[in-house]
Amino acid sequence: MFSLSRVEFRTSAIEGRGVFATRRIEPGELVVAYAPKQRRLPADSDEAMEASATKQTLLSEGRFVIVPDTSVPGGWLCNHSCAPNAALHSDGEGRVVATRSIAPGEEVTIFYGWVSEGEPERDPCLCGAPTCRGFINFDLSPSDIDSIEIVDGGLATVDDALRERLASYAAFLRSIGQEQVQDAITAVVVRAKRRALAG
Ligand SMILES: [Zn+2]
Repeated sequence: MFSLSRVEFRTSAIEGRGVFATRRIEPGELVVAYAPKQRRLPADSDEAMEASATKQTLLSEGRFVIVPDTSVPGGWLCNHSCAPNAALHSDGEGRVVATRSIAPGEEVTIFYGWVSEGEPERDPCLCGAPTCRGFINFDLSPSDIDSIEIVDGGLATVDDALRERLASYAAFLRSIGQEQVQDAITAVVVRAKRRALAG
């Protein structure tokens, strides 16, 4: 069996171990499977909630949480960048696909799209891109969440400053081809409101 691998796993200047191209990878091309060895848990199980706290999980099709077996390297090792060259697709078993041309030796990066609640400085970003946002996470404070309404599946607010911040983040996400992160923001708002209702 010859190897079809387009990547290798080694120490990254960004953080820990990273994923690096071993040959040119074209936009739209599969880079690496998210987790060649993985467990799937129902998204609403306690075990899935616990695993999500480690951040090294992937919600697939809204129903499963994929937990990588970290003894086997895979796309789960991709570092975050504010100017990523790949995107994580969460359907099926999860995979990393190039969004632009990646040169041999270049680190493969994705956009994590984490959304935090009331912890604006939770995840400092070390990506080094000129357009770095400073933090990986996009934060919504409890009062932000209070003032947001879900209208036709989208976010609406009467708070002008917040509306401006959401719009500029949406524009940024569009500019790097990561519109799917919008769904993560909506999901966090929906979950927070549900939690508030449950008291
Ligand atoms: Zn950054």
